[in-house]
Amino acid sequence: MENCLFCRIINREIPSSIVYEDDEILAFNDISPQAPVHILLIPKQHIRSTEEITEVNKQIAGRLISAASEIARQKGIEGYRLVFNCGESAGQSVFHLHCHLLGGRDFNWPPG
Ligand code: AMP
Ligand code: ZN
Repeated sequence: MENCLFCRIINREIPSSIVYEDDEILAFNDISPQAPVHILLIPKQHIRSTEEITEVNKQIAGRLISAASEIARQKGIEGYRLVFNCGESAGQSVFHLHCHLLGGRDFNWPPG
């Protein structure tokens, strides 16, 4: 989708530091890391947010989560956090579905 930052990253119009790619998913380092490991996993299909997950495309959410856990395993990260910010009030700033993989430090609960 035009003017979508993450679609532009998928199309290589904006550079990124890619850590994993397959036919459906791209994973790259977050430009503003909030932990020693901070990777974003996105579907190549433009899905705005979790609210656009349907019966037809719901398998992509599982793909994002399983790819995130595989990356964490390969990096030897023991505890990690997977975050989907859903909607502006929850901190979503880019409206292309993404999963944050955060690791390499301890995390508090409840989150801020
Ligand atoms: P969210 O606030 O959940 O929508 O997450 C969007 C994330 O995208 C933030 O953690 C940003 O740091 C990250 N981000 C924004 N621009 C870029 C970029 N050009 N490359 C990598 N990550 C980015
Ligand atoms: Zn997009």
